[in-house]
Amino acid sequence: MRPLLLLDFDGPLNPHRADGVPPGYERHEITEGAKTWRVLLNPVHGVQLNALADSFDLVWASSWEHGANRLLGPLLGLPELPTILWPDRAPVRRGSWKAPYVADWVGDRPFAWVDDEVGESERARFPQALILPVDARAGLTDQHFAVLREWVRKPFAHKAFPRDS
Ligand SMILES: [Mg+2]
Repeated sequence: MRPLLLLDFDGPLNPHRADGVPPGYERHEITEGAKTWRVLLNPVHGVQLNALADSFDLVWASSWEHGANRLLGPLLGLPELPTILWPDRAPVRRGSWKAPYVADWVGDRPFAWVDDEVGESERARFPQALILPVDARAGLTDQHFAVLREWVRKPFAHKAFPRDS
């Protein structure tokens, strides 16, 4: 079973808490209708993620929802990806507000999740997943990619896991 790689955008791919423009990043201004966003993107991330698509099924798990495919993925050279939607965000007692949606979306599939707002709560909730917190000042680093590559080589990364109930 191929594992999923859930991708948050703001934080891991757009280090929006960085001071200035970190090495390797470029500033982009994205406009759609009357809205403009400024994001920082590292073109190497697109190359690294496309390489990981040999082993993972990539999925957007970003508050940009369909905007991730429309506005962001093309800037990184990413193909259109399945997208988790958050139709009405319920408050959670602890951890990421995305977690209940993620639980429903992934079902019993193994997955890795990169996000700047995940941590011990998600590790407790999804013990068989690879939960990778990312510092929103730095974005995804080579070390994160190395951890992902190492994890996906392990047989347990391909095993279905029981649904959280
Ligand atoms: Mg984020």
